[in-house]
Amino acid sequence: MTKADIFEFFRRLAELNPAPETELEFGNTYQLLVAVVLSAQATDVGVNKATRALFHSVKTPAQMVALGEDGLKQHIKTIGLFNAKARNVIALSEILVAQYGGEVPADRDALVELPGVGRKTANVVMNCAFGAETFAVDTHIFRVGNRTGLAKGKTPLAVEKQLEKKVPAPFRVGAHHWLILHGRYICKARTPECWRCPVVDLCRFKDKVLEKRGK
Ligand code: SF4
Repeated sequence: MTKADIFEFFRRLAELNPAPETELEFGNTYQLLVAVVLSAQATDVGVNKATRALFHSVKTPAQMVALGEDGLKQHIKTIGLFNAKARNVIALSEILVAQYGGEVPADRDALVELPGVGRKTANVVMNCAFGAETFAVDTHIFRVGNRTGLAKGKTPLAVEKQLEKKVPAPFRVGAHHWLILHGRYICKARTPECWRCPVVDLCRFKDKVLEKRGK
C-alpha cells in the first residue's frame, strides 16, 4: 500500500469509530492488566463475564494477593488455562506490591518482566492505559496487516515493526483498536466481508469476497 493509501485506510476507519476502545471491561490500569493477562486464548466476552464480580471486590494488587490463588480460581474457572493464569496474576500482583508500590509501571520493559505478561499484553496496557503508540499484534491484526498489504510479516513482531514504521501520526494511538475491530467484525478469518468493507478499494488482498455468501 502507498503512503496515501495507508493514510486514507486509517482515516476511514477513524471516521467510522472516532473513539475506539478495547472491549475488555476494567475500572483502572491494574484491572486492565489483569483482564489482558486473562484474555490470552480467550474471548473478551468470556473474560468480561468472569471479571465483573471479581473486579467489584478486587481493585488493587494488594486485594488480589489477599484473595489468593484459590479464591481467584473460583472467579475465573470458566476461562481457558485458568490455573496457570491464576498463578501468574497472583505472582504479578505480589511483584507490583513489593516493587512498584501497588502501581502498574508505565514502562514496557518492566511490564514484560511480570509473570504472564508478554510483549502483546504489555503493548495493550501501554496503549490503552498510558496512550503509548504501541501496536499489540494479535491474531486479527496479524491477519489484517498481511491481507491488506498494510503491514506484511511472517511473525507478530515483524508485523508490529512494519506498523511502527508505516502508521501515520494522527492514527498511531488508535490504530491498534481500529485494526482489531476491523479484523473481528469485517475482515474475518474464514470469510472476509469485503462486500461491506469500508477500505475495499485500498486493500491489496487477492481473494476478496465481494458478494455475500449464503449460510
Ligand atoms: S477488502 Fe476484504 S480482505 Fe481487504 S480489508 Fe476489507 S474485508 Fe479484509
